[in-house]
Amino acid sequence: MQFHFIANQTQASTSGRTIPVIDPSDGQAYDEIQRGSPEDIDVAVRAARTCYETVWSKLSAAERGRLLMRLSQKIAEHSQELADIEQRDCGKPTKQARADALALVRYFEFYAGACDKLHGQTLPYLDGYTVLTWREPHGVTGHVIPWNYPMQIFGRSVGGALAAGNVCVVKPSEDACMSLIRVAQLAAEAGFPAGAINIVTGFGHEVGDALARHEGVDHISFTGSPRVGTLIQQVAAERHCPVTLELGGKSPQVIFEDANLDEALPVIINAIVQNAGQTCSAGSRVLIQKSIYEPLLDKLATAFENLRVGPAAMDLDVGPLIRQTQQQRVWDFLSDAQHAEIPMVAQGQIVDEAPEGGYYQAPTLLRDVPVTHRLAQEEVFGPVLSAMSFKDEDEAVNLANATKFGLVAGIWTRDGSRQLRIAKRIRSGQVFINNYGAGGGVELPFGGVKSSGYGREKGFEALYGFTTLKTVAIKHG
Ligand code: NAD
Repeated sequence: MQFHFIANQTQASTSGRTIPVIDPSDGQAYDEIQRGSPEDIDVAVRAARTCYETVWSKLSAAERGRLLMRLSQKIAEHSQELADIEQRDCGKPTKQARADALALVRYFEFYAGACDKLHGQTLPYLDGYTVLTWREPHGVTGHVIPWNYPMQIFGRSVGGALAAGNVCVVKPSEDACMSLIRVAQLAAEAGFPAGAINIVTGFGHEVGDALARHEGVDHISFTGSPRVGTLIQQVAAERHCPVTLELGGKSPQVIFEDANLDEALPVIINAIVQNAGQTCSAGSRVLIQKSIYEPLLDKLATAFENLRVGPAAMDLDVGPLIRQTQQQRVWDFLSDAQHAEIPMVAQGQIVDEAPEGGYYQAPTLLRDVPVTHRLAQEEVFGPVLSAMSFKDEDEAVNLANATKFGLVAGIWTRDGSRQLRIAKRIRSGQVFINNYGAGGGVELPFGGVKSSGYGREKGFEALYGFTTLKTVAIKHG
């Protein structure tokens, strides 16, 4: 049985209810988490406020940095344990689970070093005045986290918030919170004061909603679906609480005829099968110049046919999807494709060892997807790649921009001026040229435009969003 972690203590929910924890590789329940209540959120927010006022806000930036660095080291020492927890909870193949644990180490390392580098400015003003700006923390920040990359998203969101001087109340996804409960325990062991990092588990409409509504929360960082992003904004707007929104994507990879296809091919594949396609920045549309459309599709088809899907612990190319409803969602998209007579070019293989109850989906390559079809417009959040062709730069840009999203884009061409021309015209938060980072490293600011959200996490830039600016004008005596 797992518990909330509030003020450095394990706590049961006042609801007295629990939620089963399911292993996506076999569909079996293996543990229980607390089904949190609004009262639990209230307890956590009060603990955070007390911590902020009595301890955290009195630490120097350097002391905060040392604590974050100690947590980074603790996570590094426990990275295998954390990877094992995440693997079972989320169905991540071993390589992915380890990569996520190491990214978490890196987030705390990066933000540890950033704590004492965040500063204000002096501004020119009237004669006889000195004007300063101070970067001040919001205070108590709320973090609503999805299930696809719990550790990574916790690292970028909570790491940045703590570095900027905030204390945090975290609501992980009901489908994936095991690793974060453990990370909060490690933070306590690393010397974090009670109330600096609090974890309350439960359903979004119960505890996520209560967190966004709570008067004691000064900023909300939400990563998840556009639908819930809208709800969070509405609730936060009632009390004018600032929000950072990291939502979905339908990210294009644009391949020109002069691209190095041998380099592009494995990257295109990885960008859609990583984490079984359950990645906000998945490269889920491949836009290919007409002259190389057929030969590149042939190569992609061969690569797709060789992809193997199975239980997370087998560490194959693709693990299971997170839950049955997600599997059904992918099936619905594929059945719509069939009705629309969109040609399926190739599929990977689910291995015989995959248990019946697991949520498996073979990676699927579709071609000639009409730009208006939902497979070209909506996030599948599964390993499904939609291929489309274009004749020239204008058409490539129009197709790339033809969705409501704008999170990440990949451009593959050896022509330097074209690289920059296209990068400028594509509307998205990140552009990768001749590579694709599915979000990129911890140093790179990340976030969207249009329905992909607003505000930036990751990198130093995130610290501006986790602070507010105070202007102080002093008239000389
Ligand atoms: P989701 O929106 O269903 O849930 C996200 C979180 O919100 C969960 O913790 C959930 O419990 C909570 N929630 C649900 N209803 C709520 C409510 N009414 N009030 C407050 N909180 C609520 O998303 P998901 O299915 O967990 O994750 C997949 C989505 O997340 C995809 O759309 C994906 O693109 C997006 N995502 C975006 C990024 C990014 O950085 N842009 C990263 C990862 C995932």
